[in-house]
Amino acid sequence: MNNKNTEENNNNGKKQNSSMLYIILAFLFLYAFTSTKNFMTTDEITYNKFLSMIQEDQVESVIISSGEIKILPKEDEDEKSNRRKLLYTGNVEDPNLINLLNEAGVDYKAEPIQSNFMSDFIFNWVIMPLILFSIFRFVFGRLGKKMSMGGPMMGMGKSNAKVYKENDIKITFNDVAGQDEAKESLKEIIDYLNHAEKYIDIGAKLPKGALLVGPPGTGKTLLAKAVAGEANVPFLSISGSNFVEMFAGMGAAKVRDLFQEAEKNAPCIIFIDEVDSIGKSRDSQLQTNDEREQTLNQLLTQMDGFDSTKAIVVLAATNRPEILDKALLRPGRFDRRVIVDRPDLKGRIDILKVHSKGVKLGDDVSLEEIAKSTPGAVGADLANIVNEGALAAVKNGREFVMQEDLREAVEVIIAGKEKKDRILSTLEKRIVAFHEVGHALVAALLDNTDPVHKITIVPRTMGALGYTMQLPEEEKYLVSKEELTNQIMVMLGGRSAEEEVFNLVSTGASNDIERATQTARSMVTIYGMTDKFDMMALESVQNRYLDGRAVRECSDQTSTLIDEEILSIIRTCHENTRKLLRENRDLLDKISEYLLEKETIFGDEFMEFVFEKYPELRLKKGKRVDSDKDKKEEDIIEV
Ligand code: ADP
Ligand code: MG
Ligand code: ZN
Repeated sequence: MNNKNTEENNNNGKKQNSSMLYIILAFLFLYAFTSTKNFMTTDEITYNKFLSMIQEDQVESVIISSGEIKILPKEDEDEKSNRRKLLYTGNVEDPNLINLLNEAGVDYKAEPIQSNFMSDFIFNWVIMPLILFSIFRFVFGRLGKKMSMGGPMMGMGKSNAKVYKENDIKITFNDVAGQDEAKESLKEIIDYLNHAEKYIDIGAKLPKGALLVGPPGTGKTLLAKAVAGEANVPFLSISGSNFVEMFAGMGAAKVRDLFQEAEKNAPCIIFIDEVDSIGKSRDSQLQTNDEREQTLNQLLTQMDGFDSTKAIVVLAATNRPEILDKALLRPGRFDRRVIVDRPDLKGRIDILKVHSKGVKLGDDVSLEEIAKSTPGAVGADLANIVNEGALAAVKNGREFVMQEDLREAVEVIIAGKEKKDRILSTLEKRIVAFHEVGHALVAALLDNTDPVHKITIVPRTMGALGYTMQLPEEEKYLVSKEELTNQIMVMLGGRSAEEEVFNLVSTGASNDIERATQTARSMVTIYGMTDKFDMMALESVQNRYLDGRAVRECSDQTSTLIDEEILSIIRTCHENTRKLLRENRDLLDKISEYLLEKETIFGDEFMEFVFEKYPELRLKKGKRVDSDKDKKEEDIIEV
């Protein structure tokens, strides 16, 4: 029953209507067939007449049923040519009837059992199932239609899943920027798809599958499509989460269909997005999900079993590689891993270039500056920024996108929309200004910190009352202990300034505190930067490609010691920061007043104040030449 239903589900509406008609016809036919009354020539007679017929020896045989008595009269000499008529009369339950029939020597039998049995049988086993079945089909046919709405669903035999098949993919590697390593490792696959014979001749076994791994929005889906585009082969895609939402047993059927379809289309690419939703490690959870497990098994079987002389490559994407079932990663399955990481500065510039191709840019646009102000942003963010920039240009009544529009877009994407009408009281505004200048000043006065790009006290909707933006000149991959300590001091600069100037502690520093504590914690638990714990790992990082959350790996007693160590780092940093600001109170006051007046000041304006007091810094900080600057995920320090 189950199998049949899945098969039937996929018929289209037209076919469904005509089979409804068949069912109704069959029903009518069976009804006619089972009631003899309608199909022989019969006449009703009275019971009296029946009795007299018996006495006059005109009856050959009778059939007695619960409701009626059928009478076959003896052949009449006169009417030989005519057909004998079957007669019937109501059964009055006459107790003497049997005696009479016996006396007259009439054959009699009771038929009802057989006829009832027949019609009951037909009703119970043929008509009822047909009715139930057509109701079932009607309901699920609807459901099936609903499920397949909103996408170019293919007529894929038995499959309802959203399998997208695209034949002419125009996306190429030129559309994917900043993922050179990933592209390099995928080139082999493209060559394989184009020249499968070459590889088969020599006896090489090519990877059947490659797993694209990286955070969301870095272009995994895009890359998979680009592979299909470059190789000029069909692209069959399905999302792992689609499998899971289905009825029992259907996920596995979908996988089968998918591979069947792929064999028809070979050479081609199968792309399974979000493969982690089916490929979750089977032993990692208490409760198993049979459906998912079946689907996974089917996937494994198909990957092992498909015709290796056909050039089919299975690409899959995930941002959680560590939860994947080991069986999926075995040789012969997804044995290749292609890392699709967050783009670096050069990558970001390239991505911005790709996305601004069709956009009219003004002369003053520097994509490099935009890229610099968005460390940690992924391709999807950058695409979004270009588009927001274009929207802003239209809003500002321009025909070209200016740098200003793009800057605004960065702020929209990264810090929430500018909201000029959010009113702060005069005192609040002063506090915010000193707070931000506190951050900026600490950054300017310490060594090896990222230069200040912008300070603003224009509030954003996302909650920040103002922020200081630091920009690394270059990306950096190694960070020293001193640099981390300085970063913490910059984060604590806001609150420290408030304390120095207003002798007041406000809620504005919560985010700073959180980040400073996190940095201090990493110094203690991950980077081995304290004497107390030497090079002992106290935390390990999980979900590297998602949130990168750290998990504690130590005893409770050690935990307490860790907390003490973190506190001591923060306390020292806090004291040093306050001292630094106290010594530079004149600068703090001067720049804060200037900021209050201007609301937004940029890095060079700000540094002029600093250089006035410390001319020697002009050499060091005016044009920075540090070559190994830190690659930081987030350089915007918000209140
Ligand atoms: P993922 O699958 O990794 O979550 P997508 O491939 O869906 O990310 O990327 C979403 C969008 O972001 C793409 O359609 C593209 O516009 C843009 N994008 C992401 N990465 C890149 C990149 N490296 N180069 C160009 N555009 C990119
Ligand atoms: Mg994707
Ligand atoms: Zn702050």
